[in-house]
Amino acid sequence: MTAPDQPAPFGGLTIDFSADTSVAAPAASAPLGGLSIAFAPEVAAAPVGPGTAAEGAGRTESKLVIVGSGPAGLTAAIYAARANLEPIVLGGSTPGGQLMLTSDVENYPGFPEGIQGPELMAAFRSQAERFGTRIVDVDVDRVDLSERPFRLWARGVEYRADAVVVATGASAMWLGLESETRLRGRGVSACATCDGFFFKDREIAVVGGGDTAFEEASYLTRFASKVHLLHRRDEFRASRIMVERARANPKLEIHTNTGIDEVLGDAKVEGLALRDTVTGEPRTMPIEGLFIAIGHKPNTEAFRDWLEVDAKGYLVAHDETHSKIEGVFIAGDVHDHRYRQAITAAGDGCKAAIDAERWLETQGITEANTLTAW
Ligand code: NAP
Repeated sequence: MTAPDQPAPFGGLTIDFSADTSVAAPAASAPLGGLSIAFAPEVAAAPVGPGTAAEGAGRTESKLVIVGSGPAGLTAAIYAARANLEPIVLGGSTPGGQLMLTSDVENYPGFPEGIQGPELMAAFRSQAERFGTRIVDVDVDRVDLSERPFRLWARGVEYRADAVVVATGASAMWLGLESETRLRGRGVSACATCDGFFFKDREIAVVGGGDTAFEEASYLTRFASKVHLLHRRDEFRASRIMVERARANPKLEIHTNTGIDEVLGDAKVEGLALRDTVTGEPRTMPIEGLFIAIGHKPNTEAFRDWLEVDAKGYLVAHDETHSKIEGVFIAGDVHDHRYRQAITAAGDGCKAAIDAERWLETQGITEANTLTAW
C-alpha cells in the first residue's frame, strides 16, 4: 500500500477504512489501504447543560450550517465563507466524503496529472478553512427544522442556524463479505468511472442487475479484455435497452443466478468463489478486479422525517437546491443519483451556498447581523 507523498493533509487522526462497510466509493488498483489521513478533528465539547453548548467549545451558532464535508459541503462552505457567512460545517465522523476512499482522481478538472482523492479533499478543506469556515468532524444525530433558528444536534452539542445546507452524500452498498472489505483498493471498487482505467486489458467482473451494473459493465469494456456481469437472479432491474446492449457486446458476458461467496486473493484480487443461486453449485472465476454496483444509499437519517424523499430515499430538491422548508437547501449525492460525480456535487454545493446567501438576504440576514434571537 502506498500513501500519497503529499504531507498528511488533515493532521492527526488516522482513519482506518479497512473495517468500514458503510462508506462509499473505494479505491481500486492504486490502493489506499494503509493510508493515514490526518484530520485535526475539531470535535465540539460536551454541553454544560441540556441543549446548550459548552463555553469555549467554539462557535455553535451561524447564519449557515452545512452538513457534510464531501465536495458539495466543502464547496458550499468556500462560497459561503467568502460571502462572510462564517459557516459551520458538521463534517461527519469520517469526513471528506466518497473521494476519501478513491485513489487516483483523473477526471476532476484542473489536475492534468490526476490527484489522489484524499489530497483533493484536503485542498477543499483548507480552502474552506482559509476563509473562516469552522469544520467540526461530527455526525449529526438529529435536527429540528420546525422553526428558525434551525437546530441540529451532534455528539450532544446543539448547533443553531438561520439556514442549513444538507450535503450528506450517499454511500455505495457493499456485499458485506470480509474478503470484499479487505481487498478494497486492491482490486475491489464501487466506482467504474474512478477506477476502470486501472484495469486495461484485465479480466474483471461487475456485480449487480440494475442500470448501474449494466452501465458500469459496458463502460468497463473500454478498458478490460473481458467483463463478467454477475447477477443473483435471472431477471434484471436494468432497462431492457441496457440489457440488450450488453448482450450485443462481445466483451461482456452475463452470468445469471450467480452469487458471490468470497473474493479470492491475499494482497490483490485474484478471483471469485461463486455459487449458483438455484442449484447451490460452487465454482471459481479467475478475475483481477471486482466492481460492486448493487446500488447506493443516500445518507438522510437525520433529515428524512423533515424533508421530502423520493421512492428510493433520496432527498427531493426543487428549483435546483431548495427543499420544502424555506432556508434549508440540498446539495450533492444526497439528492443526485443520476450523475454522482465530485464535480457535479461541487457545482451543486456552489449553487446551494449562493441560494442560501440570497435567501438570507431576503430575510434581512447579512454578513453583519443575524435577525434570529438566539
Ligand atoms: P438498483 O436498480 O436498485 O439495482 C441494484 C441491483 O443490485 C439489483 O439487481 C439487486 O438485485 C442487486 N443487489 C442488491 N443487493 C445485492 C446484494 N447484496 N448482492 C447481490 N446483488 C445485490 O440500483 P442501481 O442499478 O444503482 O440503480 C439505481 C437507480 O439509478 C435506478 O433507478 C436506475 O434506473 C438509475 N440509474 C439509471 C441509469 C441510466 O438510466 N443511465 C444509470 C444508472 C442508474 P435484485 O434485482 O435481485 O434485487
